[in-house]
Amino acid sequence: MSTHPNPLLLDSLQLTVPLLQQKLRGLPEDTMRQLLDRALASRGLDYADDLMFGGGRCGESFAAFAEVLAVMSLTAWGGVTFAGVHWCTTPGCPRVDAGHEQPYPWSPPPKPAPRPVADMPLPAGEVS
Ligand SMILES: [Zn+2]
Repeated sequence: MSTHPNPLLLDSLQLTVPLLQQKLRGLPEDTMRQLLDRALASRGLDYADDLMFGGGRCGESFAAFAEVLAVMSLTAWGGVTFAGVHWCTTPGCPRVDAGHEQPYPWSPPPKPAPRPVADMPLPAGEVS
């Protein structure tokens, strides 16, 4: 039995986040980053009061929050935990302190191409 003040929210997230994970799993890192940016910028997260206590924007807020949790669970090293419920890249992983693989191993950005260098002689007598 959950001790969270809104057990229906937790039950709904426990059903929805894994479904979203299945939909999003395997997408390229850039696409995941765009999805996270879009979800974080959506107005749905502005209505967290409706999400927690009920209100007209509850569905919109729930959709945005579930998408943020799903994307973060698949991209953040160690997954994400909300109100004691943990999601990560390993299905059925019970704990945030379990051994986790880095979902997107860091790779250094490509080095820029060297710029052409040309020597330009200074005019005689103007150098001080
Ligand atoms: Zn985990």
